[in-house]
Amino acid sequence: MTTIFSKIIAKEIPADIVYQDDWVTAFRDIHPQAPTHILIVPNKEIATVNDVFPEDEAILGRMFVVAKQIATEQGIAESGYRLIVNCGADGGQEVYHLHMHLVGGRKLGRMLPN
Ligand code: 5GP
Repeated sequence: MTTIFSKIIAKEIPADIVYQDDWVTAFRDIHPQAPTHILIVPNKEIATVNDVFPEDEAILGRMFVVAKQIATEQGIAESGYRLIVNCGADGGQEVYHLHMHLVGGRKLGRMLPN
C-alpha cells in the first residue's frame, strides 16, 4: 500500500528531508508536536509493526542508528528525547507506512495520559 511517505522518499512531493540513505529517509513532521519532531521512515514499504519480518531487522536497526545520529545533530541527545512508533487504529497510526517519531527539544512529560 503506497502512502504519501513513499512520494516523499522518492522526492515526488516536497518535505524537509534531514537524512536519506539506501534504507531510510528522515524528514520533519508537517505538524510538529515539539521543537524537534522528525519522522524516520524505511524506504521499503512496510505498513505497520505487524508487517515487520526477520529480514527487516537490518532496516529496523538502521532506524535507531539514524535516530541517534539525528538527535545528536539536532542538539537534543544530551537533554533527551522520545522515539514513538504507533501501530494500527488503537495505536493512533494515521499513515500506514512504518515510521518512528523522534520528538524532543522540550520536557515531554508523562508517556501516556491517564
Ligand atoms: P502517525 O499518527 O501515523 O504515527 O503519524 C503520522 C505523522 O505524519 C503525523 O505526525 C503527521 O503530522 C505526519 N504527516 C502526515 N502527512 C505528512 C506529510 O505529507 N508530510 C509530512 N512531513 N508529515 C506528514
